[in-house]
Amino acid sequence: MNTPISRRELLRILSAAGLGTAFASRLVADESDSAPRVAAGKVPELKLIPVAGKSRFPARLVDGKVIQPERTLPILHETDVLVVGGGPAGFAAAVAAARAGAKTVIAERFGYFGGQWTGGLVLVVISTHAKENGQKVQVCRGIGGDLLDRLSKINGAILNYEPGKHNPTTDPEATKFMMDEMIAEAGVKVFLHSWAADVVMEGDVVRGAVFESKSGRQAILAKVVVDATGDGDIFAAAGAEFEQRLHAIGLVHRLGNVDRADMEKLKAAGFRSLGGAEPITSARWVNLRGPSTDALDVNELSRLEMEHRRSIWNHVQKLRNSPGGDKVFLLQTAPQLGVRTSRLLGAVKQLTYAESREPKKFPDTVAVGGAQGAQHAGWPIPYGCLVPKKLDGLLAAGRCASMDEKLCEDMRLIAACLITGHAAGAAAALAVQSKCLPRDVEIPKLQKLLTDQGAYLG
Ligand SMILES: Cc1cc2nc3c(=O)[nH]c(=O)nc-3n(C[C@H](O)[C@H](O)[C@H](O)COP(=O)(O)OP(=O)(O)OC[C@H]3O[C@@H](n4cnc5c(N)ncnc54)[C@H](O)[C@@H]3O)c2cc1C
Repeated sequence: MNTPISRRELLRILSAAGLGTAFASRLVADESDSAPRVAAGKVPELKLIPVAGKSRFPARLVDGKVIQPERTLPILHETDVLVVGGGPAGFAAAVAAARAGAKTVIAERFGYFGGQWTGGLVLVVISTHAKENGQKVQVCRGIGGDLLDRLSKINGAILNYEPGKHNPTTDPEATKFMMDEMIAEAGVKVFLHSWAADVVMEGDVVRGAVFESKSGRQAILAKVVVDATGDGDIFAAAGAEFEQRLHAIGLVHRLGNVDRADMEKLKAAGFRSLGGAEPITSARWVNLRGPSTDALDVNELSRLEMEHRRSIWNHVQKLRNSPGGDKVFLLQTAPQLGVRTSRLLGAVKQLTYAESREPKKFPDTVAVGGAQGAQHAGWPIPYGCLVPKKLDGLLAAGRCASMDEKLCEDMRLIAACLITGHAAGAAAALAVQSKCLPRDVEIPKLQKLLTDQGAYLG
């Protein structure tokens, strides 16, 4: 039987166990601010909740092997379309699917949307435009274009988005805010703080994913899953073919008070630039390339995160100790390590750099990629790049879609991820409505849905 105990008694027990200090000091801090106070003698009673035996399935160490027992998982949610990963691709996929009328869930391991764009502090959206008939044409339209348009109506949210410009730079907090707004407005069900750890399979068809969160290990079931994790975590877990590429892994940081720096003096001291301009004029974002290594190795990720942070710290200290740089400060290092490429789907079609530079339209074109600096023509992206060779029930979008090594430098850019995400989300919704597999959606119907949603297909 549970015996109710008072908060005071709980604190006493925790203190005796050596656990009380942090809890007690937090309690004091809470009570010293504006939190409602409890009248003396009316301390609410707390119950210690025993963990039910049936909800615990710890791994067991048996003969030096760690064995995870089989168990039934709670179903957190059931939906038409499940988008895993809330970066540019996942955001666009979720909004597109929901706007097309599908019940849509987006699940993201962190607490915000935007992936590398906002969490990685990669703030310049390259390749929004291409050169068509000698004119700069915006190719990143549809959901991505809608987001950029909305940012342009907020003071201090976007730079270089006026007509005739290209490669806009966005403020990360404004971008997160607007993504939240658009996701909510489209009616997408959101699960943040949810790390996809596995897939749910029914035969050879992906039927959902398994998530770890503070609520435990739970499944979300779906008719179609869009893998927008950037690293292809879902298609890899489902057994799809993929290749893995190594690429430079960096860590972006931002500087504050750059408008109070004396650039002449800093140049004389050997600092060539303070980074890329941002909508907030006192801040700059600073890219960092880093070594080419394995983005799927937790040892490497841990090592790099700390090494990069140390080197950034030392660099900024040097800057602050140089003539003209004393007012500049380290505003933040990116909450997300800068992974550029890891897994790429083995898809029905691998788009090549050569094809991207011979702008021919594919029968299944679902997006048109832009050019860095709008220097060349747009390049059609076929639906086949998003569809696994064999695996069903799943589409991939963003930087883990299918492309050859050289095209990675174009197809992993934010604008390209927004448009492949849009295409995958629309296709997923259409597959649900047509009661068919994603690979079997009728391409003319998909192209019509995309253009109705504002996408540019050339
Ligand atoms: C250092 C660096 C500099 C760059 N510079 C530029 C630039 O200047 N301009 C430009 O346009 N592009 C640039 N890029 C590329 C661009 O930022 C990314 O390629 C793009 O953001 C990829 O979008 P995505 O949605 O495919 O993936 P991501 O942005 O990586 O988003 C993936 C999302 O999935 C989530 N996720 C991952 N795994 C799981 C899981 N298992 N469960 C739940 N959620 C998961 C992640 O948290 C993340 O939110 C740069 C990239 C880096 C790393």
